[in-house]
Amino acid sequence: MGELMKQFPSLVKLFLVLIMINNFSYSQNIERSEVPLKFKWDNSILYTNIDEWNIDKKLLESEIEKLKYFNGKMKNNSYVFYKTLRTYFDAYKLYYKISDYAFRLSDEDLRIGANQSLNQQATNLGTQLGEAASFINPEILSIEKNTINKFFNEKNQLSEFHFYVNDVLRMKEHTLSENEEKVLASAGLITTTMNEVYSIFDNAEKTNPPVKLSTGEEIELNGASYSKYRTSENREDREKVMNVMFTEGYRKYQNTFGANLAGKIRADYFYAKNRKYNTVLEQSLDVNKIPVGVYTNLVDQIHKNLPTLHRFLKLKAKMLGVDQLHYYDLYASMVKNVDFTFSIDEGQNLLLEVFKPMGEEYVSTVKRSFDERWIDYVPTKGKSSGAYSSGAAYDFHPFILMNWTDDFESLSTLAHELGHTMHSYYSNKNQPFVNAQYATFVAEIASTINETLLNDFMVKKAKNDEEKLYILGTYLDLMRSTIFRQVSFAEFEWEIHKRVENNEPLTGEEMSKIYFEIVKKYYGHDSNICIVPDYVAFEWAYIPHFIGYTYYVYQYSTSLIYATALAEKIVKEGQPAIDRFYNILNGGSSDYPIELIKKAGVDPLSSEAFDIAISKMNSVMDQIESILDKK
Ligand SMILES: [Zn+2]
Repeated sequence: MGELMKQFPSLVKLFLVLIMINNFSYSQNIERSEVPLKFKWDNSILYTNIDEWNIDKKLLESEIEKLKYFNGKMKNNSYVFYKTLRTYFDAYKLYYKISDYAFRLSDEDLRIGANQSLNQQATNLGTQLGEAASFINPEILSIEKNTINKFFNEKNQLSEFHFYVNDVLRMKEHTLSENEEKVLASAGLITTTMNEVYSIFDNAEKTNPPVKLSTGEEIELNGASYSKYRTSENREDREKVMNVMFTEGYRKYQNTFGANLAGKIRADYFYAKNRKYNTVLEQSLDVNKIPVGVYTNLVDQIHKNLPTLHRFLKLKAKMLGVDQLHYYDLYASMVKNVDFTFSIDEGQNLLLEVFKPMGEEYVSTVKRSFDERWIDYVPTKGKSSGAYSSGAAYDFHPFILMNWTDDFESLSTLAHELGHTMHSYYSNKNQPFVNAQYATFVAEIASTINETLLNDFMVKKAKNDEEKLYILGTYLDLMRSTIFRQVSFAEFEWEIHKRVENNEPLTGEEMSKIYFEIVKKYYGHDSNICIVPDYVAFEWAYIPHFIGYTYYVYQYSTSLIYATALAEKIVKEGQPAIDRFYNILNGGSSDYPIELIKKAGVDPLSSEAFDIAISKMNSVMDQIESILDKK
């Protein structure tokens, strides 16, 4: 998400997700010129040289000028209304092509200054376009609804923009007068301060507490060293690391962190109230017209299924060989690492097998992505790190950046990114540009289904119990951290907002109390399933999402739950379930995410998806237990 904001500043549809990032480490030893052509993406389909790119850049600049001409005139008649939207979305589409080329080219080798300059020029064009288009939504909102209906009746070509315009109009009751809007907008200068304070204090000014490990080595605890050493095989080390991190690193400053976070929560409420929402939750979900019931259902269902988390925790204790599990044991691996190796060719062939349940159409498109060089695989000197899929070039095909290192993580990352790529490819193909890009709430479903299929495949094809345990155990850890941990965060976030909305005091100390109670409940502290030490109460201050985002993290959990349910249906039912799933793949943002998910075969307001995901988790535990029993 952060990346997205940087690349596409202040455009109208900020909720759109173009680039999905997954990070992993790799080594870059070779130059790009040494990589075989078949492992490099072919971005020459966009432009064969910079001159061509510059021609489009000039064209876009003149379109941006044209767009400014329509400012204040949209209400005049249906023709101007249409022309404004046409000009804007055509320019937007062109901007995506121009920037996709610039960003992909610069990611190939960040050391090349000329490409960085293209990147910079593209970013500037995005800002100019965003500024030039900023009149459009307010102007649509200022026109009488009857007049807009008349425009749509008069001009058939407008139908393409029907969903977009209606979605803008949906915000009418939450939009204020021009002057009030100006005041709200300028408040942004103040209300973003808390996030800045957090990041400066947490990353730079707060002292990193030192810790002496069992090896005698003395380390300083920052975010990176903490996440490394909390996984330590040595139990005393991981206890010490977590204890020092939260006691010295956060408890000491809980009132500072608390006052700052409370400020952010009050700012959230300031906007919600002024925009005539009862709660911040209502406002946040309303951006994508998600009913509050989706959130409450998530929390209720997870509460109901805590016994499954507790079963996992007991299994984890057994596999780690500890009598009593503690919170600091959660990150220790319960399975032995297995060194799978896959060359790129092997990985491609394997994924074509893995995706078979998705049907021939899907597999043939994945094969095209390999044959037509949509993917850049090899880590090279100066190449951008991590992995992503970009579906910005609407009339072309998506691109995937990888840093392939021949291991299972590479394979699983490619499966994930291919999910985003297929989603973008089919949405671009089936929707007009204005409706092509999908919302965050559905963005991780296709990618997660692919990872699920890969896991199932690897379990089936495992050569021995060791391999099987590794895949199953890793999968369980993912479910623990993505489903249960994220919902515990979602509950904390909800609880602290409620305090402010009910006019109750909210301090760092109070936040620690709230957080501690939630974590104890989730991890079965009172029934000795997993002991949660006192210092875990301060963990909330370590999680940057609470201050950086508003009601965002719950989507990690819903995505995995819906994807698990949809994957199960696809595997069990075959074609009818595949056909339904294409409602998401083809759907872009042609409807609200909740409707697309319903059409795909899962109702986010019911318990079905949860029942399926939880029973899957139980069946994975059954499989692990039967392997352990054999031993
Ligand atoms: Zn993703």
